[in-house]
Amino acid sequence: MTSSAQIIDGKAIATKLMDDLSSKIAKLPQKPALAVILVGDNPASQVYVGNKIKACETTGITSIEHRLPATASFDDVAKVIHDLNQDSGVHGILLQLPLPDGLNSDLLIQMIDPLKDVDGLTIANAGKLVAGIDGMIPCTPQGSLMLIKSVCSDLSGLNAVVIGRSLLFGKPMAQLLLAENCTVTIAHSKTRNIQDVCRNADILVAAVGRPKMVKGDWVKQGAIVIDVGINRLDTGKLCGDVDFDDVIPKAGYMTKVPGGVGPMTIACLMSNTLKASGFSK
Ligand code: NAP
Repeated sequence: MTSSAQIIDGKAIATKLMDDLSSKIAKLPQKPALAVILVGDNPASQVYVGNKIKACETTGITSIEHRLPATASFDDVAKVIHDLNQDSGVHGILLQLPLPDGLNSDLLIQMIDPLKDVDGLTIANAGKLVAGIDGMIPCTPQGSLMLIKSVCSDLSGLNAVVIGRSLLFGKPMAQLLLAENCTVTIAHSKTRNIQDVCRNADILVAAVGRPKMVKGDWVKQGAIVIDVGINRLDTGKLCGDVDFDDVIPKAGYMTKVPGGVGPMTIACLMSNTLKASGFSK
């Protein structure tokens, strides 16, 4: 008899989180406000920003859009960030990435007031996460941890492998799993025998950007597999970094792409915005 993983339904879990946030926000006398800065006309960014604004409408968060042309200078973007930092009516600031070539996103992100940094990308928030101090946690790893904990509440002592070491995902994901008392390994493009490393994982999280890279024989029987990758195939279809059909007979639980981590990212952005407002205390 072949077994088959139980699917972790990110869409349903995100909807529940959004519903809970909506109820809390509906009771507030003042609404949290999220400012989104979009520079240029990257089509994927336009879709992502549209989805974030829609989520604000759903939860009752006020959204403020700042659209700048692709020709905007570093100083133009810096001024928008500076003004939003000063504006007490704005609680969260999101700089949609990637920025057009020539704009230094690392420097611009660091200009965001850490208390309004709802993406959790400033050095202050990254440092707080490492130090175990409450701060803004990047949305995608935060949402991924919720998905893992939806099927296993106590992660203590489990072996976790995160493939990818970006500041946006891999590093904060590893910190979150470490804080849950997992034994954490971060794999990356220079990792030797990556299949063997992954086969040791009770929790395997893939955030690489390579379609269907993780195969069934990389996965320990019964493991929790979280697929963060979003890749567009030549057919136009989206797929993750995990070869879903190959892995499903091996994993115990796994996410799908789309409908897994993606909806959680947006729900956690709304949650971070409420937290940044301080209204939920
Ligand atoms: P990134 O900054 O490009 O990082 C990719 C990581 O993968 C790097 O650490 C890289 O290693 C590693 N890598 C590349 N090729 C590899 C290989 N052959 N074997 C092992 N590791 C390899 O990407 P990211 O921003 O973390 O995003 C990763 C994926 O997640 C992308 O598909 C992105 O679209 C997706 N994503 C999804 C969401 C969501 O909401 N669902 C949010 C964020 C990102 P090196 O460091 O050695 O180069």
